Parts: sequence; C-alpha cells; structure tokens
Amino acid sequence: ALRCQILIIGGGAGGISVAASLKRRRPELDIALVEPSERHFYQPGWTLVGAGVMSSAATERQEAGLIPKGVRWLKTAASAFLPETNRVRLADGRVVVYDYLVACPGLKLDWAKIEGLTQTLGRNGVCSNYSFETAPYTHECVKTFSGGTAVFTQPPMPIKCAGAPQKALYLTADYLRRHNRLAGANLEFCLAGDVLFGVPFFVPPLQKKVDEYGIKLNFKHNLIAVDGASKKATFAVVDKDGKSTEKTIAFDMLHVVPPQAPIDAVRDSALVNAAGWIDVDPGTLRHTRFANIFGIGDALGTTNAKTAAAVRMQVPVVTANLLALLEGKSLPKTYDGYGACPLTVAYGKIVLAEFLYGGKVAPSFPFDPRVPSRFAWFLKTTIMPLLYWHQMLNGYELDIGHHEKQFLA
Ligand code: FAD
Repeated sequence: ALRCQILIIGGGAGGISVAASLKRRRPELDIALVEPSERHFYQPGWTLVGAGVMSSAATERQEAGLIPKGVRWLKTAASAFLPETNRVRLADGRVVVYDYLVACPGLKLDWAKIEGLTQTLGRNGVCSNYSFETAPYTHECVKTFSGGTAVFTQPPMPIKCAGAPQKALYLTADYLRRHNRLAGANLEFCLAGDVLFGVPFFVPPLQKKVDEYGIKLNFKHNLIAVDGASKKATFAVVDKDGKSTEKTIAFDMLHVVPPQAPIDAVRDSALVNAAGWIDVDPGTLRHTRFANIFGIGDALGTTNAKTAAAVRMQVPVVTANLLALLEGKSLPKTYDGYGACPLTVAYGKIVLAEFLYGGKVAPSFPFDPRVPSRFAWFLKTTIMPLLYWHQMLNGYELDIGHHEKQFLA
C-alpha cells in the first residue's frame, strides 16, 4: 500500500485550495491528492459561457499546472473509503493508507436519470450550463431562438449553485428583450420544489424579474424524460392534493439542470448521513464519527449553499483545524455556513445573495443586496475568476467580512 500523512480526495475547487493552503503553511507536510481528471474547471464561469460573455477556454486549466509543488498526484479515482482502517481504495487497484483524510470529491451530475436526455443534449435545442461541453450550446440556442416556448428546469434540491437554473432563465429573457424577441417568446420555469429561491429575503427581487419578463412559474414540476426529436419534455407533477401526474410540455428550447447526488464511492461508504452526503460537524467540518477526517465542498451534508464561495470559506477552517489536530490542540476555527449566489437578473446586473446557515443574510458589501447591482456583475465577471485562479487555488485567505446593516434587520 501507498502511505501518506494527509490524503486529499478530489482536485476541484476544494481539493486544490486546501492542498495549497496546507503546503503554504507547512511545506514539510507529506500530502497526496487523488484526482482522475487532467482538466480543472471554473464552473461558476459556465453561466457566463451560456450567456456568450465568457469563452469556455477561460473556464479550463490543466490540472497538472494547479497541483501545488511537493504534493503527490495520484491520477485516478477513489473507488472506496475504508475509514475504520484509514485507507482509501483507488480505481487502479492501489490502496492508500493515511493519517488524515480531507474528502472533497464534489457531487455527481446524474444526466442519465432523465430518460432520453443524453441522446439529445447539445442538439434539438436541448442545452445545459452544467457542463463544459454543453454550456456554449446554450448561447447558440438563445441566438437562434425564433419564438415559441423556452423551458428551463430545476431538479430537486440540493444542487450546486441553486441559483444557476434561474440565472440561465433571466439572461435568456434579457437577451430576447434586447433583441426585440421577448414578446414572441413563452418562457416557462419548471422547478421540482415549491419556492423560487431557498432564502426568502431574496425572493421579492427575483419574483419582480419573473413578472417583468413575463415568465410562467411551474412549481413541483420535475423533469423525467426528454424526447429531442419531437421536442417534448415530460414532467412528474405533484398537485396541491399531493397527487402525482405526468405532464408533457412542447418546447423550442430546453435548458436542463441535471439531478444531483453524492458520488457512488461516497454514497456507498461509512462516511455518510442518511441522505448519502459526508457527515461532518457543520462548524469544525470534522467528520462526526472519524476524528481524522475532514470534508469540504459539494460532497458535504451541511446545509450551506453548495458553492465555490462556500469552499473559499471552508478551506481556511479545515486548514487551521487539521494543523491544530496534528499538534494535539483543540480545533480553533468554525465555519458559519457562508455561501453566495450571484443571481444574474439581466446582462450587467446581479442580485448578490450572500447568506449563512439558516438563511441569515450576510452581505460582504455595505449595499442592500436585493437591489440589482452593476458592481456585483463586475465582481462576478472580472474579479471572482481572478480570485479563484490566483488567490483561492493558491491557498491564500481572503475574508472580506460580513456587513450586517440596519436594512437587513
Ligand atoms: P468540484 O470543484 O466539482 O471538484 C470535485 C473534484 O473531484 C473534480 O475535480 C472531480 O473530477 C473529482 N472527483 C470526482 N469523483 C472523484 C473520485 N471518485 N475520486 C477522486 N476525485 C474525484 N459557485 C459559486 O460560488 N458561485 C457561482 O456563481 C457558481 N455558479 C455555478 C454555475 C454552474 C453552472 C455550476 C455547475 C456550478 C456553479 N458553482 C458556483 C458551484 C461551484 O462550482 C461548486 O460548488 C464548487 O466547484 C465545489 O467545489 P468542490 O471541490 O466541492 O467540487
């Protein structure tokens, strides 16, 4: 078996950032990182790729260039977690024995769960901002949309970046409005859940946009099948008596957000809660049963928004707590559940939703975050990608702090 002091699973936003953060503070640490992919993606950029304002190339880097110096890269997937014996089995058959484990393998996009989707995705007007390959086609669909029905879907929660399904919706509506094509468009937003956004504070400004653009909201509509050739989408619909029926909507354009789930190796392990997500303490991010295991990011069962913004605040917590544990000290840092969702309500305008555990609103800037902001658009399109590539993935901390102004009381 291979041995290492600290084993990191996943080389995405969380894995690279925590590897860099640990190495920056303790260069002598013996760290190995398991990541099967040679490519790393800045996923928050895909909303902008789908809107035609960022190139897909700008969202991609070679993984090799991001792994910090001195960290061993095991270029394969973790296939089984064996926490009782401090081991992880790899897809290539090897086994790694660790002293400490940091699990950040993200989540699984379950495209195949929707019947007929994989056969038609990227053709027939069926697009999705949820992958590098398919995000550019969203903009193609919008540009060539010549009236008719455009349907946007949102699967059951939890999903990564819960606002992303409606970001695609508003940007499409605004594009059509700017090109005098909104009047001939029937826009429908089909959500599996029954609220527009999980934090009630932000619902009114979003509802205002829905009304302004003339979007029809269909709650409790869960996409289950797509027939690309005949352009029909089928939903499982729950009515107000709780009865489930099927409903088919004919579309000219369909933006799909895939169902999301824990990755198989996590789901089948002893690491998880009842829902299959990694069971860590919401504050310390240490595993609730295995004291030498921490977790970061989308794979966790914590109730924060699954976002890169959350990862940015989780990494310093895990770094500090893990280093303290190495020295036999008590864990010094607590994560407050910070997550952020920049809701692109129009080209050039964003409602920057920032909040903590329990939906407590926590803006980083001293403005009313419900007011669509040009500054927040500048942050999202220009500053955040730079922070991601240069600050976060290099293990630097940036805590802007939360402003709790009277208008939030
Ligand atoms: P990831 O970054 O997804 O990394 C997981 C890594 O684990 C991947 O590299 C994967 O290859 C690897 N992996 C998978 N399985 C295994 C295995 N078995 N063994 C080893 N490695 C494995 N966040 C924001 O903050 N703001 C936004 O505006 C925003 N918009 C988004 C828009 C879209 C369309 C999408 C898709 C996401 C968006 N996000 C946004 C969410 C953000 O990208 C994620 O929350 C963030 O990347 C989570 O980091 P992570 O490390 O947990 O997972």
